[in-house]
Formats: sequence, C-alpha cells, structure tokens
Amino acid sequence: MSNVNSKNLISGAKAVMKKIHPCGSNLFLITRTGADVKLKCLGCNHKIMLDLQKALKSIKKILPPEPPSMT
Ligand SMILES: [Zn+2]
Repeated sequence: MSNVNSKNLISGAKAVMKKIHPCGSNLFLITRTGADVKLKCLGCNHKIMLDLQKALKSIKKILPPEPPSMT
C-alpha cells in the first residue's frame, strides 16, 4: 500500500519522485499544497507545479518534515 495521499502532502515535507529529475535528484521539497502542488527540486532548486492528482501519481514516497533543529 502506498503512503501517498493528499493528507501526506504537507508543506515542508519531502517527496521522493518516481522519475528522477534531469539533475539526478529525485528528492523534492513540497512548498505548497492544495489543488495545485508546488515542489522544489533539492538537487537544482528547480520549481515545478503539478495538479494534485498528477502530483499524487508522480510521488513515490513522502518523507515527513524534519523536526526543527534546536541549535
Ligand atoms: Zn533537479
């Protein structure tokens, strides 16, 4: 069962994409959610916008946001 559903799409969470970006990274940061999902490639900082259904199909796995660092 996939853990990818719209509830897991949280701003600040990281998404592992099914397709590897041309820069070689498949890790994207979710920067906006809603009817359209905005993602930023963590390899090259390229930003993409996908509609929700497309985003859910393109994401392999969602990593929960990291806890804020206490340093
Ligand atoms: Zn990239």
